[in-house]
Amino acid sequence: MTTSIPATQDFDLGNGQTIRNAHIHLNPDVDALYADAIRLGEGVKAATGPLTVRTNKTGRSPKDRFIVEDELTKDTVWWGGFNTPIAPSVFDNLLAKMIKYAEGRELFVQDVYAGTDKNYRIACQMITEMAYHSLFIHNMFVRPTPEELANFKPDWTVLNIPSFRADPATDGTRTDTFIIVNFSKKMIIAGGTQYAGENKKGIFGVLNYLLPAQGVMPMHCSANVGDAGDTALFFGLSGTGKTTLSADPSRKLIGDDEHGWTDTSVFNFEGGCYAKVINLNPEAEPIIFRTTRTYGTVLENVVLDAEGVPDLNDGSLTENTRSAYPIEEVDNRQPGSIGGIPKNVVFLTADAYGVLPPISRLTPEQTMYQFISGFTAKIPGTEEGVKEPSPTFSTCFGAPFMPRHPGEYAALLAQKVKESGAKVWLVNTGWTGGKYGEGHRMSIKHTRALLNAALSGELDDVEFVKESFFDLEIPKEVSGIPAEVLNPREAWADAAAYDETAKKLARMFRDNFKRFEDGVDKSVTESMPNPDA
Ligand code: ATP
Ligand code: MN
Repeated sequence: MTTSIPATQDFDLGNGQTIRNAHIHLNPDVDALYADAIRLGEGVKAATGPLTVRTNKTGRSPKDRFIVEDELTKDTVWWGGFNTPIAPSVFDNLLAKMIKYAEGRELFVQDVYAGTDKNYRIACQMITEMAYHSLFIHNMFVRPTPEELANFKPDWTVLNIPSFRADPATDGTRTDTFIIVNFSKKMIIAGGTQYAGENKKGIFGVLNYLLPAQGVMPMHCSANVGDAGDTALFFGLSGTGKTTLSADPSRKLIGDDEHGWTDTSVFNFEGGCYAKVINLNPEAEPIIFRTTRTYGTVLENVVLDAEGVPDLNDGSLTENTRSAYPIEEVDNRQPGSIGGIPKNVVFLTADAYGVLPPISRLTPEQTMYQFISGFTAKIPGTEEGVKEPSPTFSTCFGAPFMPRHPGEYAALLAQKVKESGAKVWLVNTGWTGGKYGEGHRMSIKHTRALLNAALSGELDDVEFVKESFFDLEIPKEVSGIPAEVLNPREAWADAAAYDETAKKLARMFRDNFKRFEDGVDKSVTESMPNPDA
């Protein structure tokens, strides 16, 4: 297929700003975007169908993300942590430079929604320099109907030009890369990074700021629904299994990564999924595997073999290889991507210390405690001789995307869980039988069986025992699961080594929580893990 470059036009960005003489590709379709991405050298078509691309950055740049501090955000954003303030003048100056830089260039524009619920969605005009970003956006956001497109009026504008780089010395940024959110101007500008995930996480952060004011709980979670209409949410930091476990052949997928919980429903922010594909096993993850064999999918940083077939075991570009596909590629999905009030809420954690039980039931206080803590553990990096995992604590299981105070989100969640009567579970998808290097990762088969037992109500009728360091309730038996798998202390060959590691982890939890103790109810601090148990 050949592509044509559109004639130049002046493009109105809103806020009285115009890009002059730009070649604007307005809402191009999948075929056109493949052709443009290939023409521009952004990637190639894999023999199995997907558009396959490489990016300069292979993950997000959380330290280069800023929020404009002004009258609107001054007292409503929780500054500190990942929410770094920047002056309005820095934004204005960079935007002016970007507009000048964009003059005469090719730009790809997608008009899309964030949010499947019409009462809460925002209309986003996503302007990108890369054709592949435009396909990513087409796949990942909610696609308007032809009628909606004809009357499209953007609420928010995103201008993302990876080849434009800031000059930290004069522009007031940290590096040449920047992502700046301006709530007053309803605009996000980004430069320096080709990682497509910035496009979606930028807008996710916007909804996370806006929705609590409307009584909606915004969440970094996946969601699916069983045959009985029972909705389940899966919270968790990157790599804990949100995408993997929500894509369950026996349950309908609502969405992959970001949702809102209203008084009557759970709705998806997105229209697509963004799955890790490194070492993907076709039997354990058939749904995701199939997308690597489908035209229309974007494969990021996946290596193709000599025949042009994706080699999913090749992590030479990054371990964070990804497939981005529209939700329609998942056969078993919830129409409209809206489900009922949740019956179950699952906190996923990939505990590389091998301490937390594969499944446990949380009290309301433990729910608050775990939500504010937001724990997972990273496996050791490539540094020689380092065998210890490292902990990650990220409030609300998504601190980099949460502009408000964690207490605001935690209070909303507590209220929603209470009103709905949802049961809350902590599921360790990480290590068992020993820490990383000694034990092994929990099998996806076991994790799915444990989840099915919880979601089907099987665990309502079994006996639970209390584990001593975290005071967690562990089921005594679950059908299809060997008993020693359920209790981590028994899964370790050396019980004393388990106790020692559990104490260490309990201490890390307590140290991390110190900064939140003042802001929460005493009953929550009383539910803290106890290293001296
Ligand atoms: P992100 O927020 O970055 O999208 P995520 O929570 O969606 O992360 P997944 O993409 O589901 O995380 O990644 C989980 C990874 O862990 C997958 O590569 C999966 O194959 C692997 N894995 C191994 N064992 C398990 C298990 N027991 N449960 C879930 N995932 C597992
Ligand atoms: Mn995911």
